[in-house]
Amino acid sequence: RESITTNKRYESSAAAVDSADSSCEKFEYQAEVNRLMDLIVHSLYSNKEVFLRELVSNASDALDKLRYLSVTEPDLLRDGVDLDVRIQADKDNGIVTIIDSGIGMTKQELVDSLGTIAHSGTAKFLKALKESQEAGKDSNLIGQFGVGFYSAFLVADKVIVSTKSPKSDKQYVWEGEANSSSYTIREETDPEKLLPRGTRLALFLKNEDKGFAHPEKIQKLVKNYSQFVSFPIYTWQEKG
Ligand code: ADP
Ligand code: MG
Repeated sequence: RESITTNKRYESSAAAVDSADSSCEKFEYQAEVNRLMDLIVHSLYSNKEVFLRELVSNASDALDKLRYLSVTEPDLLRDGVDLDVRIQADKDNGIVTIIDSGIGMTKQELVDSLGTIAHSGTAKFLKALKESQEAGKDSNLIGQFGVGFYSAFLVADKVIVSTKSPKSDKQYVWEGEANSSSYTIREETDPEKLLPRGTRLALFLKNEDKGFAHPEKIQKLVKNYSQFVSFPIYTWQEKG
């Protein structure tokens, strides 16, 4: 798959990627997701910065879920890894990476969560959109409803999610691109990319949105939109 081998970050492990290619599976999005993605990618919506609020809120939800489960399964926290969110801004390459040490996703959960419209907010959004289109209106629906994970495509033309659930001994990589009706899932094969648990979400920013890959910008957005998150949020700058 070109989208994988052209990714600079994986070049150093090209051999591993090649040998794992047979296990790189392609999936089609549910029809509603295609509609939503199309809308997000082509929207002239100016308040793109809401993407960070949505993704940090998902990270926070994932940490909450892990903390909740650990009440009855204390072993889940035995690895001693802190519950936090780390946001890396790599301005040279225009990549923003959001890492949480939360509950992560199994392969099946990736398919269910990042291939369909599972949550009611997004379903409501599509309904409201249909109604407003029928009424010939163009209201600020993206901001009003929040479009969850898919809001990553407001600013990114490629998203790579690498995730490890305590329910699975494998880590999986979900990869999707704007303007594509399919995504891929494969096993994480690069030992350097293995997580103790949780999720790493890399946003390869569109040219016009590379300005988001600055720590000061990220810090400002976190302050504006995510001040009530109950876990520490760290931001750092990738050294070139
Ligand atoms: P919502 O958060 O309202 O459920 P989203 O579109 O934001 O909708 O996310 C869809 C689902 O994807 C979440 O419900 C969750 O199951 C999964 N998900 C997204 N991000 C993460 C993450 N960082 N860690 C674990 N699961 C996640
Ligand atoms: Mg969400």
